[in-house]
Amino acid sequence: MPLLKLSNQHYLTLKALNIFGAFFLIKYSMEKSNKEYYCVMPWHGAFYTTVGTAPCCSFSHLSEEKPITFLKGEELAEIKRSMLNGRVPKQCQYCDDQEKRGVNSTRITYQRLAESLEKRNQITIRRDLDFNYPEILEMRLSNLCNMACRICSPNWSNKLGKELQQNPNLLKYYKADRQAAELIIKNSVDPLFQVNDETLAEIYTIAEHAKHLFFTGGEPTIHKQVIDLLDHLIELGLAGEKSLQINTNCLAINPQILKRFSSFLRTMISVSIDGIGAVAEYQRYGTKWQQIDDNLKLIGDMKNLKNQDFNVYDGPVSVDMHLALSSYTVLDLYNTMEYYLKLYDEYKFTLTINTVLFPSQLNLKYLQGEARRRAKSQVFFSIDLLKKRAAEDFVFARFIGNSINQLENILISLESNDLNGYEYDQFVKYTLNMDELRDQSFESVFGFNLKN
Ligand code: SF4
Repeated sequence: MPLLKLSNQHYLTLKALNIFGAFFLIKYSMEKSNKEYYCVMPWHGAFYTTVGTAPCCSFSHLSEEKPITFLKGEELAEIKRSMLNGRVPKQCQYCDDQEKRGVNSTRITYQRLAESLEKRNQITIRRDLDFNYPEILEMRLSNLCNMACRICSPNWSNKLGKELQQNPNLLKYYKADRQAAELIIKNSVDPLFQVNDETLAEIYTIAEHAKHLFFTGGEPTIHKQVIDLLDHLIELGLAGEKSLQINTNCLAINPQILKRFSSFLRTMISVSIDGIGAVAEYQRYGTKWQQIDDNLKLIGDMKNLKNQDFNVYDGPVSVDMHLALSSYTVLDLYNTMEYYLKLYDEYKFTLTINTVLFPSQLNLKYLQGEARRRAKSQVFFSIDLLKKRAAEDFVFARFIGNSINQLENILISLESNDLNGYEYDQFVKYTLNMDELRDQSFESVFGFNLKN
């Protein structure tokens, strides 16, 4: 049975709905000290990928059983019994570790979501052992993608899969998702993964009962299985009772897709923007920046149209800019933050920042020399920019605190002398290797040479 690997794609999920994370961390850590260890996901959640099923994305084991068989099966029942008896299931260790480190976990994120669904009378939080359809679904139905980002892996982008098939020497850079990468090379299989028809038919049934649908990818907006499922729910008249959460790189956004999104009761769009202009085109390979910029305006206009009487968090459409901060994107962070503030001024997008941990050579804490000096200065001035805006704008100050904290922690790690020569060496080799393959140039994008 495959083990779920925790990678950059995993923490893309953890960013969701964490604006009040600290508050909930305290609240639910206190609850945990009571008799049971409760998490809503075994009762109310399901996570579907091309290789298996689990209650959520942080669960350390993916079952190969069909979705409905899994929901009725002994593994899930045992998880529920363990929790009700106050034991942390071993598959939930990641959440427990996160909380012990004082970090917002998937458990807390989804507890908040379930409570907000309950407040709107969409669900009743349960503790029984009966079979019920889950109301919170996260789906990664394919690795089909129109980009080949340097921070991603073939497991989540078929374009990276094709590149790996043509250049097997890149395997050494995909340590976190090595199993899938090896399979792609060895079998020469088509690097496009998607759920099979039998599984999809069960997901349709489950989605009809669900109240919150969350699509990541790959790039869900270009995946026919996703679009067909949305259309199915719209045609049945069920979209108006469900919330939709979707992660997108924005390249394929168009008015037809946005019309589908806006058919749902609430729509939460997370736009992945790690850098702007040439930096975006370099890191998020396949990006056409002008197209992204235009599409962000389309999304923003849709948000403003639907949210006329609502504030930044609370409208029928909310948009969050998600920034994955890597050894590349940190080098132009200030420009990216200035761009983000324009999106905030015009459309009231929120901001979430995550640090890239995998591939490990792109973890910015390993930067050295001129790159480290630049990263420090970019982070320092970005914090200053965000703090100044927070001092002028109460609404902005309410949600930007997490991002400022993230950046302050990054600055502390960059100021330490804890250097890792091996990882930096890997970063330089990876950069030069990819530059050659893709006919790109780090130096022309960032204005200095990595050997400095
Ligand atoms: S505790 Fe964490 S890993 Fe376990 S089911 Fe809940 S969210 Fe998933």
